[in-house]
Amino acid sequence: GTTATERQIAAAEAHSAHNYHPLPVVIASAEGSWVTDVEGRRYLDLLAGYSALNFGHGHPRLIAAAKAQLDRVTLTSRAFHHDRFAAFCGELAELCGMETVLPMNTGAEAVETAIKTARKWGYQVKGVPDGKATIVVAADNFHGRTTTIVSFSTDPEARADFGPYTPGFKVVPYGDLDALDAAVDENTVAVLLEPIQGEAGVLVPPPGYLAGVRRLTQERRVLFIADEIQSGLGRTGRTFACEHEGVVPDMYVLGKALGGGVVPVSAVVSSREVLGVFRPGEHGSTFGGNPLACAVGLEVLAMLRTGEYQERAATLGDHLHAELQTLVPTGAVTAVRGRGLWAGLDIAPALGTGRIISERLLPQGLLVKDTHGSTIRLAPPLTITEDDLDWALARLRGVLAG
Ligand code: PLP
Repeated sequence: GTTATERQIAAAEAHSAHNYHPLPVVIASAEGSWVTDVEGRRYLDLLAGYSALNFGHGHPRLIAAAKAQLDRVTLTSRAFHHDRFAAFCGELAELCGMETVLPMNTGAEAVETAIKTARKWGYQVKGVPDGKATIVVAADNFHGRTTTIVSFSTDPEARADFGPYTPGFKVVPYGDLDALDAAVDENTVAVLLEPIQGEAGVLVPPPGYLAGVRRLTQERRVLFIADEIQSGLGRTGRTFACEHEGVVPDMYVLGKALGGGVVPVSAVVSSREVLGVFRPGEHGSTFGGNPLACAVGLEVLAMLRTGEYQERAATLGDHLHAELQTLVPTGAVTAVRGRGLWAGLDIAPALGTGRIISERLLPQGLLVKDTHGSTIRLAPPLTITEDDLDWALARLRGVLAG
C-alpha cells in the first residue's frame, strides 16, 4: 500500500498549482530546530523557513505572545487605531536607529512599498520630472514575485512570460561599484540591494562594496534601500547584514523573521522625511500592522534587543564556516560562502545537483534546500544547539563522501 507521505503528496499535486517542487517530506509538527513528518520521522531543519524561523519552531515566548493576543483582538484594519501598533512601530524604529515604520505582511509587499516610497520621494523631494524616476538594482537579485519585482529580475524562471514588464529599473552587476556609478543619473531615486544575495546562492559582496554604495548614494542624493528580508534580524551575526561594513542605509526592508515564523509581518523602516511622503489613501494593506502581527513582532523585537540571537549566530556561524571550509579540499564542494549561520555550498558537479544532494540528505534526517542548480544553502534556526549543528555536519560530510 501507499504511505501517508505518498498519499499526501499525490493529493497536493492533484489540487494545487505546481509553482513549487517540494522535497518529498510531509511535516506534521515541529519544535525548536526539529520537525516530525506524518510517518513519525524526525528531521533537523537547516532551512528555517528561508530565515523566517530564526528563533526556531514554536518558540515559547512567541507562541505565548500570539496566544495572549488571540484572546484580545486580532484584526481592526487601519480604519481604527489599536493598542499594539504604536509600541510595535516605535520599537522597530528604535532597533533600526530610524524614525518611521510602514508595516505590511509579506516581503514582496514591503519591497513594493519601498519602490513606491522611493519614487514618490524622488518626485516630491528630489524634484525628478514626473514619470522619469529610475531605481538601480543588482543582477541575480531576489526581491519577491510580484509583477513589478519580477520585471527587474535577471532570472528567466522568475520573469519569462510574465510581461509586459514595469519600466523604471536599471540592472548592474552585483558588487561592481563602477557599474553602479555609471548607472546612477539625475533621475535615479534609489539603489535597491540585498546586502548578501540569498537566493542567488548566499553571495557576499566584495569588502568595501556596501560602504561604497553608501558613499555614492549619499553624494548623488539617491536613497540606499537595503532589502534585509533574509539577511536581517540576526542571521549573519548582527542585527543587520549592513552592520558588517558599518553602513546604515536610508531604508531597511524587513520581513520573514519579523513575524517569528508565526504570522507574516514585513515593514519598511526609514526617516520621517522619506516615509513622510505618504498621505492617507496613497498606500495600505488590510492586514498590515494588525494586532496579532504587532504582538508577535513586539516579542521578536524584545528577543532581538537582548543581542543573544545575534551572538549565537556569530559564534555558531564561525564554527559552521570553519567546518564547511574543510570540505573544500575533499573536492566535494567547490566553494563555501556566507556569514553567520548562513552558508551557500557549491556542490562539485560530479556529485550531482543541489537537488540530488538535498534528496540524499533527507533520509539522513536533514532538511536543506538547493538554489540555482549546484548550490545548497544552510540556514538553521539561530537557536540550534552546537551538538545538533555538529550532528548535521557529520551527516552532511557522510553524504558528500558518497
Ligand atoms: N527579498 C528577499 C531578500 C527575500 O529573500 C525574499 C524571500 O525569499 C523576498 C524579498 C520576498 O519575500 P516574500 O516571499 O515574503 O514575499
